[in-house]
This record gives sequence, C-alpha cells and structure tokens, in this order.
Amino acid sequence: MNQEAERPSTPPRSLYDATGAQLAAVLAGEPAYRVKQLWSGLYEQCKALDDITTLSAALRTRLTEQLPTALVPARESVSDKGDTIKFLWRLADGNHPIETVLMHYADRVTVCVSTQAGCAMACGFCATGQAGFSRQLTVGEIVEQVVRASRHAKQRKQRVANIVFMGMGEPLANEPAVWGAVERFHADMGISARHLTISTVGIVPGIRTLATRPLPVNLAVSLHAARDELRNDLVPINKRYPLEELMTACRDYLRVKNRRISFEWAMIAGVNDSARDASELAKLALSLKPTAHVNLIPLNPTPGFPTRGTDAAGVRRFADRLADRGVNATIRRNRGTDIDAACGQLAAGQPVVLTGRRGV
Ligand code: SAH
Repeated sequence: MNQEAERPSTPPRSLYDATGAQLAAVLAGEPAYRVKQLWSGLYEQCKALDDITTLSAALRTRLTEQLPTALVPARESVSDKGDTIKFLWRLADGNHPIETVLMHYADRVTVCVSTQAGCAMACGFCATGQAGFSRQLTVGEIVEQVVRASRHAKQRKQRVANIVFMGMGEPLANEPAVWGAVERFHADMGISARHLTISTVGIVPGIRTLATRPLPVNLAVSLHAARDELRNDLVPINKRYPLEELMTACRDYLRVKNRRISFEWAMIAGVNDSARDASELAKLALSLKPTAHVNLIPLNPTPGFPTRGTDAAGVRRFADRLADRGVNATIRRNRGTDIDAACGQLAAGQPVVLTGRRGV
C-alpha cells in the first residue's frame, strides 16, 4: 500500500484513485487494520465495496458517499463463445464512454484497458482515432477497469494474469496516470510487471520517461510502416517523431532496460504488405538489440477506413519474409471482431468522422 502520494489538499477523484492514507482519513477513528481489510478487499479480492463485509454497513456507506466509483456500467457484449467480453462504461463525471476487453485463453486471462476517453493521435485506420479525444483517464479509472474485469473473471474461477494497455487512447500521452496504474497492478494486485504491456504509437518523450521507470514492463511500438513517407500517412504523429528519432529512442530504451521491444503492424491490403515493406521492417527490427519481435495484426474493419486487411495467405507470406531475414513474427489472432472489440475497433459507440479518404 502506497501512502507516500498523499496530498490531503486534493481529494481523490474516485475510490480507486484514493491512496491508503486517503482511505485511512475516511476511516478516521477506526482501528488501523480496517484500512488493510479495505485495501485487500478492493485490490486483492477485487470486491465491490458492498461485498467487503469485514467492514460494517455504516462504514461501507460512509466510504461510498465520500469515494464513489468512477465507472458506470453501460453494456457488456460477448463474443468467441463467451471467451471475449467487451465492457462499455460511462465515466461518472461527464458521460464519456470508454471500453475494456476481457479475453479468456486456455492458460491465461488478459485484460485490455483504455488509458484515455478517445484518442488524439488520429490514425486513420483506428476507430478510436476516427472518433477523436475527450479526456485523460485518472489512475483510478484505469485501475477500476481491471478490478471490474477481474471480478468478472473470478466468476469463472480465473485470475487476470496479463494486462495490455492497448484499449482506447495513447498510453504515453498519459504516462503519469498509466504508471500509477502499473504500480497498483504490480504492488497491490499481484500482477507481475513482466505481464504488463504498454503499447505506444511512438511518443518519443514518453518512451524516454518510461526508460527511467523502475519496473520491467513490456513496450510495444505501433509501427505499421518502416519508411517516413508511408508512416506519415498512416500514423500522423510520425511527422512530429519521425522514424529515425523513434528508433533512437528505442535503442536508448534498450540500453537501459535490455527488454525486447515488440513492433505492431496492422496489415493493410496493398498499403504495407509488400516484399519491400517486409524488408524495410526487417531492417528496423534487426537494428535493435535484441532484435524486435513483430506482431502482425490482420487489419480489423472500422467504419471510417475503406481499405481491407491483407488476406490470411498474404499475412503468412509477409511473416515468412520476415523469418527469412531472421525476424520472428507472430500473427495476432483477432478476438471479438463481431462485437467491435478487436484491435482498433474501440469507439465506445461514438460516431466516427468519415473523411472520405482513400484509406491511408
Ligand atoms: N495508442 C496505442 C495503443 C493502442 S493499441 C498504440 O497506438 O499503440 C491498439 C493496436 O491496434 C495498435 O497497434 C493500433 O495501431 C492497432 N490498430 C488500430 N486500428 C487497427 C485496426 N483497424 N486493425 C488492426 N489493428 C489496429
């Protein structure tokens, strides 16, 4: 339990934003072990306040009144025979919608969390980018997504083992809150830092900050193109942080962390799936030590982007081309495409901006 971050003058935004000291302040007059019971109920057992019955009903009422939760459940959509669940929430303060995806696999359960309501990065092929940015999420709003998803997983007697910061938003444009959530997952929920993955569109200052952070989390970079001309088109932030700067930041990160970086590559038919693209990508992957691992994501359909994804044979061929050059690539199995829960499909029911562009 981290009591250092206490700032009595700024009350916590929500229950899961409260530090141990702030919870203790609400429980003033109670024996000290009450705070421990509360903390363990919230983070180890992932219980709703009302189910933490080691606390009296009066205390639970006091806590609920002073520290309300931040997420209002709006909808649950289910796919993959129940193995993929997408949660739509509304943020209690202003109705902003956000989404979280819970994925059950044979040997593990993974939660994909949102870090912002919307996204300002404007990648044309991503539904979140098409819908635009509303606001940053707080630490508590990120943590509460995982707590609630864990509660759901518990009903199936499963425990969340992996968290990917790959939902709505750009994690490194909200790095302090993301890191606050990382610390809570690691220290209070017992999820190993090695099982936490932060995915970035390539915010160079954010990568540099991450390099100064102590825990061994995984870093994934959404590359999608390995030459500036094409990447400027697909990932507009590339104009601000072009590939050379991004690769330098990755190399500096590796010097400090020595943990393999992954590159994500959404495969877009006729746009970034040629032999030339494979060879440019391989060159960048091999320029990092250790060599970057590549995750190929067959492009998922989104309303604002007309171009299709590369077909299965094309994805396989691309992966083989990378392998021939000594680069390992895995093909990400799409989850929840039918409920718009797959990579790049999280728009939380927001209308997207139809640009009428050709697709890149
Ligand atoms: N903003 C962060 C976190 C999002 S992670 C980032 O860009 O890394 C979501 C991943 O899915 C990113 O790699 C993103 O580029 C990718 N993606 C976005 N739209 C997609 C789509 N339509 N199909 C497949 N992948 C997509």
